[in-house]
Amino acid sequence: MATGITTGVEAAVKHDDLAQPLSREAACRLIRCPDEHLPELLSAAVEAKERFKPRVITYSRKVFLPLTNLCRDYCGYCIFRRDPGQPGAHTMTSEEVLEVARAGEKMGCTEALFSLGDKPELMFPEMRETLRRLGYNSTLQYLEAMCELVLRQTTLLPHPNPGLLSAEWIARMAAVSPSMGLMLETTNARLLAAGAAHDNAPDKLPSKRLRTIEEAGKQRVPFTTGLLIGIGETAEDRVDSLLAIRELHERYGHIQEVIIQNFRVKPEIPMHDWPEPTQGDVLRTIAVARLLMPEVNLQAPPNLSAPSYEDLLDAGINDWGGVSPLTPDFINPERPWPHLDELQRRTESKGFILRQRLPVYPEFLPAVASRPGLLADRVRAASDPHCYARRAA
Ligand code: SF4
Repeated sequence: MATGITTGVEAAVKHDDLAQPLSREAACRLIRCPDEHLPELLSAAVEAKERFKPRVITYSRKVFLPLTNLCRDYCGYCIFRRDPGQPGAHTMTSEEVLEVARAGEKMGCTEALFSLGDKPELMFPEMRETLRRLGYNSTLQYLEAMCELVLRQTTLLPHPNPGLLSAEWIARMAAVSPSMGLMLETTNARLLAAGAAHDNAPDKLPSKRLRTIEEAGKQRVPFTTGLLIGIGETAEDRVDSLLAIRELHERYGHIQEVIIQNFRVKPEIPMHDWPEPTQGDVLRTIAVARLLMPEVNLQAPPNLSAPSYEDLLDAGINDWGGVSPLTPDFINPERPWPHLDELQRRTESKGFILRQRLPVYPEFLPAVASRPGLLADRVRAASDPHCYARRAA
């Protein structure tokens, strides 16, 4: 942090002392700081990142497996979800899962990211019929079996993102995957009101999502969560969402990664005329997240900030998230992931080293690898002595 003139940023940060995590009051001031103070905010965030993980930026080389795009929720920004019978509606077969996973294995991928709609069988008889044909009672049961299939038959490690989970299902998923995720998105429950982003998305009730994240903490499951910014929340809501995550992490120590994802508009979505967050909004949110949680891995997806995604490194991220050399980003299909050589070049242009990690972060890996059983065997086989991916980028 620069010393000398006392600016709004310095005053806010000094007020709390950088040795302490940032308070809500200071975070709310910083997230709305004027443009002239932004460079100082960013430099404080990068300094915090460098104290936490000097010089290194990580990514996970993955395949994206959209196990089913049927979903019982209707988020206003979602282009992924389908109703049964809609063009593109699809539930992957086990053969399709294995085919993609094996193709990814050949390209050096180490993560099988399972993304899917939330419990579509509760709403759609067609999904119940699909599951019956496949031999399962629920989407989660099918997901569990597919994670185990990938684990048994490939070298990839599953990372499921299945939506809300009960305590029982967290335990079952943790037996077949070293980490898992659920985006908190926001703590603003008003986004479930008529006409708002979560108008018809009962699984986006913040209290339910916080309960899943807390339950994962009780079970010590390495957990990925984060914010989706620009969907109708205020800057203060972003701070409150980050504080809710920080509070759970302070209690359970299980948040392996916080993602700051920015809303991107698409002509086909209900929110097609919604304004996107500015690059300044994205950078401020990342920087404040870094100062609120100086020792938590912080990720922002490069494809959502193209073409100048390397600027995200100026705000204190230490990870690019999952990047696939094989499969598209089914959540933002119009935004291809950067080529890995390009990602490396741009990361190095900012003075950092790019390293390939596994879906479970290095500091969380030893606990998973020390358990008995297939999952731990696979995690040990996939990791190098520093707990990064054995097959380096
Ligand atoms: S964002 Fe997720 S929960 Fe919302 S509609 Fe899309 S798939 Fe369903």
